[in-house]
Amino acid sequence: MTSFAKITQLDDLTFDNRFIRDLPADEEPLNTRRQVFGACYSRVLPTQVVKPHCVIYAQEVADLLDLSPEVCVSDEFTQVFAGNRLAEGMEAYATCYGGHQFGNWAGQLGDGRAINLGDVINQRGERWALQLKGAGATPYSRGSDGLAVLRSSVREFLCSEAMYHLGVPTTRALSLSLTGEQVVRDMFYDGNPRAELGAVVCRVAPSFTRFGHFQILAARSDEALLKTLADYTIRTDFPELGEPSIEVYGQWFTEICRRTAEMVVQWQRVGFVHGVMNTDNMSILGLTIDYGPYGWLENYDPEWTPNTTDAEERRYRFGNQPAIAFWNLVQLANALYPLIKRVEPLKTALTVYEQTFEQGWQAMMAAKLGLSTFDEQLCGELLAILPLVETDMTLFYRKLALVNSTLPVAESVADAIHQLSDAYYVPEQLTADYLARLTQWLTHYIHRLQQEGVADDSRRVGMNAVNPIYVLRNYLAQLAIDDAEQGDFAKIHELLDLLRNPYNEQADKQQFAAKRPDWARQRAGCSMLSCSS
Ligand code: AMP
Ligand code: MG
Repeated sequence: MTSFAKITQLDDLTFDNRFIRDLPADEEPLNTRRQVFGACYSRVLPTQVVKPHCVIYAQEVADLLDLSPEVCVSDEFTQVFAGNRLAEGMEAYATCYGGHQFGNWAGQLGDGRAINLGDVINQRGERWALQLKGAGATPYSRGSDGLAVLRSSVREFLCSEAMYHLGVPTTRALSLSLTGEQVVRDMFYDGNPRAELGAVVCRVAPSFTRFGHFQILAARSDEALLKTLADYTIRTDFPELGEPSIEVYGQWFTEICRRTAEMVVQWQRVGFVHGVMNTDNMSILGLTIDYGPYGWLENYDPEWTPNTTDAEERRYRFGNQPAIAFWNLVQLANALYPLIKRVEPLKTALTVYEQTFEQGWQAMMAAKLGLSTFDEQLCGELLAILPLVETDMTLFYRKLALVNSTLPVAESVADAIHQLSDAYYVPEQLTADYLARLTQWLTHYIHRLQQEGVADDSRRVGMNAVNPIYVLRNYLAQLAIDDAEQGDFAKIHELLDLLRNPYNEQADKQQFAAKRPDWARQRAGCSMLSCSS
């Protein structure tokens, strides 16, 4: 592999800001809240902040930009990634998109608190778009301030990187900075506003284009611009599809369907609940985007959502994510229809979503169980058993890997039940009926393992490679936030470090693999979150 010289000054980055070069701009220069027609973006500068401080940066993301470790700890870096200065080649803008929120068309939304800085072309020729989240108001901020608080920014920073290291497609996070400003938030919309620390995350992705970018143009019947944006996107983000044409539009949508299915399979594998799967929060690249009131399943409960705003309907609950992704793709299909003018290719692409999801999910579940092929009965019965009593999903699969299939089956089952005991939250729930059902399942499972004849050791290695031991448990993020709000950032660093290796047991890190402590069960931020961040 060729090694390149690292960049020691941000002014030496190479930018190719194609989005603003090739797409029409909003002609209004003033940064006032408004509806923006006939344009894909508005030029807007980040808001100056009083006392920027870079809390943490991710070296792996800096590497994508060829940035040296020295530049990442420089004052220049601190200033630029808190929004105080633009490096040479950066151009600041906010983009226009719409979306369906909780199933209803919401009209124009747009980058209300995200400001793009342009696309870096790294030394390997890759395109990486930079985006500040929380850098101040834009024409798309509607009634809000364009800012973000430390609490939600810590969550976005850590989860982006945790997801990447877990192997889940995601936008990345370069840096987390404090602004030195105070931001007032009413965390639960209950009339208790408080001043919080303002923060900015610099996100990085090949592009930040969302389903909603196309939806807003279709909703406004701006077919010419819809075509311009689609052509731009295919040429920039999907060049392997070739020059845009009616056929290529169909192939492109098929590819979006395929990628979205693969992303959701990965969410279901690790127990991630996005929390706000509105169509404006869906990336056309199939990346997890917009880490807001997301959460991680602790006890396996397909009905669970962390988002208090969605507590009644639970539209975005864990078990509903695959169906919602499909629903969102249908909305995108409607938006792209004017380009294709035929229903058939869109329908076929949606079938590809269903097939890719189903096949991917079955393969994923087989891998989680350490089986060479999917076993519908075994898997179905397990998913019926898991929610019967509070069972920690992450621990359950790790402990299941310890099954010893060489013992006589009855002994093997008894040993497995002993190993699994760690995964249960409420021992009193383990009734004789429950244990009988679990015993029966384990007996089937162990028989199946014996049929497969794979040595326990190698099965364990395979299972541990898809069943993480460390995930960003909701309470772990909250503990890091509690300290950070007091000016102690050590836990943020420790968690980033831990989550770089989510599949390997790490010495002295046992506490991070522990199930949620009782105090966290009902604490805000640990089991419930709101959109207000
Ligand atoms: P969400 O679904 O939370 O990602 O956001 C929905 C819309 O609200 C997007 O257009 C966001 O840019 C916008 N938004 C969220 N929070 C703020 C904020 N604090 N200031 C301005 N706009 C915001
Ligand atoms: Mg959003």
